[in-house]
Amino acid sequence: MRIDIVTLFPDMVEPALGASMLGRARQRGLVDIRVANLRDYAEGKHRVTDDYPFGGGGGMILKPEPLFAAVEALRTPDARVILMDPRGRLFTQAVAGELSGARHLVLLCGRYEGVDERVSERLADEALSIGDYVLTGGELPALVVTDAVVRLLPGVLGGEGAAERESFADGLLEPPQYTRPEEFRGTRVPAVLLSGDHARIARWRRTQALYRTWRTRPELLERAGLGAEERELVERFKRGDTPE
Ligand code: SAM
Repeated sequence: MRIDIVTLFPDMVEPALGASMLGRARQRGLVDIRVANLRDYAEGKHRVTDDYPFGGGGGMILKPEPLFAAVEALRTPDARVILMDPRGRLFTQAVAGELSGARHLVLLCGRYEGVDERVSERLADEALSIGDYVLTGGELPALVVTDAVVRLLPGVLGGEGAAERESFADGLLEPPQYTRPEEFRGTRVPAVLLSGDHARIARWRRTQALYRTWRTRPELLERAGLGAEERELVERFKRGDTPE
């Protein structure tokens, strides 16, 4: 997979792409991530990338010409062009999974008061939002999308990802996890996890995942496709039962 990030602030993006798992995935050739400086695609002596909004109002708007020029230079026949935009489709684990099947993503980072509307109308295939809040620019959202997508690519997680148990993988939040020591400041690791009984451990994890999801994100349960027994378990949580 190739990912191009188009930004006015490459310095903000590059360090995160060189560190840890993303850095290793790039080194191992599992993903080709490139950062393009939007200013390089602006014309004129001053390479201006923003201008005042028509109709008044405060702030500056990113001009369409440099963004169109950047995409036209970077685009491949397989490219999916995505504008980072708080008004876009909400980015979720399911969307990350969908994008991980793409061959080429071009992520456009907005700045200032936003981006000339012709970019979302005529250039981007879609707009993505990472949540219902407004950031100063699209760089962090582009990194969020890149990180969530790249870790789903074959070979990136290696042995580190118990991906099938991760939050959202099956529509539920992840159950609690522990490592050594078995006892820390008076709190012991649940005995079941030390039992070696894999069927019991799997049942315990599923029950904990259900409980945790019911407590903090109950709306996820509606889409989690629970069976009758699990729905009954959730009813018991509502009546005040807690899992062992
Ligand atoms: N005026 C815009 C609005 O009210 O929707 C907000 C512009 S924001 C200050 C500047 C840029 O940051 C946006 O163009 C977008 O690229 C990025 N951005 C900010 N919050 C975001 C979010 N939640 N998801 C995706 N991108 C975001």
